[in-house]
Amino acid sequence: MANILSVSDAVGRLEERMQAALHRAQRTDPVTLVAVTKLIDPKRIAEAYRCGIRHFAENRVQEAAEKRRFLSLPSATWHLVGHLQSNKARQALELFDWIQSLDSVALAERLNRLAAVGKKVPVLIQVNLGNEPSKQGISEEGLLSLVERTAALPHLDLRGLMCLPPYFDDPEQVRPFFRQLAEWRDTLAARLPPGVNLRELSMGMSQDFEVAIEEGATMIRVGTALFGPRPTQ
Ligand SMILES: *Cc1c(COP(=O)(O)O)cnc(C)c1O
Repeated sequence: MANILSVSDAVGRLEERMQAALHRAQRTDPVTLVAVTKLIDPKRIAEAYRCGIRHFAENRVQEAAEKRRFLSLPSATWHLVGHLQSNKARQALELFDWIQSLDSVALAERLNRLAAVGKKVPVLIQVNLGNEPSKQGISEEGLLSLVERTAALPHLDLRGLMCLPPYFDDPEQVRPFFRQLAEWRDTLAARLPPGVNLRELSMGMSQDFEVAIEEGATMIRVGTALFGPRPTQ
């Protein structure tokens, strides 16, 4: 169904569903819709921009670099949401405004070293909630020390947590994972020095963003529900 909607209709539909989920959760704080544009043609990305989308995400540095040569979206904010290899860190900092996939102390220190003087790069720590071997993200055991270390680095601005939970057909089955990320955020926030604000919870995708919003997501990352099924590579 999603692929017969225009991007503009899809944005309208999504915004209605986001509002309804916020209402169910009795929330009045904002949720940012981040359009995930991996494998999507630059023309359609530009179309989403014309429809008012301002946050975009890619999961691969190389693909982002190629696409961005064809795009000029002056007030877009770009998020990296895929695993970052340390040898791509410098390029990632040139291409992306936010790094949502911070998952190790080594990467945090490298990004901090490479960040431009005077700059503070917004980052989210990616948590591997299901302890799935196939998924990136820091495990529960490593989380506190990564949070503390990142919060202490002068050129990184730790804003919160991100997760990519196990896939289920029924979004209700993802709810406990979202709830856990929110709980960990609250526990961590209580242990951090004042001034470090873990406001952001980046969770929820096309399949389950409504449940994520009900559980406190402040950013949802949506691809398929905006652009239709992705072309296969
Ligand atoms: C692809 C991707 C999404 C979006 O997935 P959809 O199901 O198409 O909405 C969100 N987050 C990450 C990290 C992704 O790689």
